[in-house]
Amino acid sequence: MSTTRRLETERERMVGLIRQRGVQETHILDAFRAVPRHAFVGSDLEEFAYEDAPLPIGSGQTVSQPYMVALMVQDACVRPGEKVLEVGTGSGYAAAVYAEIARDVYTIERYADLADTARTLLDRLGYDNIHVRHGDGTTGWRDEAPFDAIIVAAGGPQVPESLKRQLQIGGRLVVPVGETPRDQVIVRVTRLGEEEWRREELGAVRFVPLVGEEGWREEASTRPEAKAKAPMLTEGDETGSDRDARDRSVRGLTRPSPIELMPTARPVSR
Ligand code: SAH
Repeated sequence: MSTTRRLETERERMVGLIRQRGVQETHILDAFRAVPRHAFVGSDLEEFAYEDAPLPIGSGQTVSQPYMVALMVQDACVRPGEKVLEVGTGSGYAAAVYAEIARDVYTIERYADLADTARTLLDRLGYDNIHVRHGDGTTGWRDEAPFDAIIVAAGGPQVPESLKRQLQIGGRLVVPVGETPRDQVIVRVTRLGEEEWRREELGAVRFVPLVGEEGWREEASTRPEAKAKAPMLTEGDETGSDRDARDRSVRGLTRPSPIELMPTARPVSR
């Protein structure tokens, strides 16, 4: 069997798994069929590209588990023609899945090297409806707001106020929120009116920490017991050794394992 054919077969198996686990909408499953996940992981990890597991992508971060991406799309009710904001580009894989459904996807990543790599790859794959920016996504993307859906791919201590305000009326924000940087529940916030939002809690998950002005501060993200929130350390304040230390500790914290990023205690149907 040719490599292309093998990867297609494996991708179809992955889609079957997502369906079995409860995400059944055709437009979502078709989006997963269309995106070559193997292009988003290093060639050394290509053989694992279609396992339903997170995989390392550098800078101590991971490409999201496919089922988790599917749940986020479903929870955010992303529909064709919509304008979506993603916080936490990572490899760009989830952005590509969203872009198969939505009209435009705006995505922000706090690590410049990940943002650059994702932008180059998404261009190469022909995704001209994805816009990648390097920066702190907890304060959103003001110039492009409002959004129909906002999906946050990292867990914060609270729902970022700026993101709530960048929702269209009727728009949905889906964000993992927890008292420690390691454990969260998915919170869905729907904007009902100019000053009215509905909040729902959808199930327990485990994401890498959301680090930024309206997220965890730098040190708190590497200390699970810490709950304090303070202004983040900006890139300019960081020394090389700070960054090395941070990378090491974040890597330890976010070591990918299928169990680690799987939803825990999530009802089968809601
Ligand atoms: N959706 C990605 C995986 C994201 S992992 C994919 O499919 O590959 C979470 C990402 O969020 C990491 O890359 C991390 O660096 C990023 N992140 C954490 N805090 C952030 C912030 N405040 N703004 C932007 N990105 C952030």
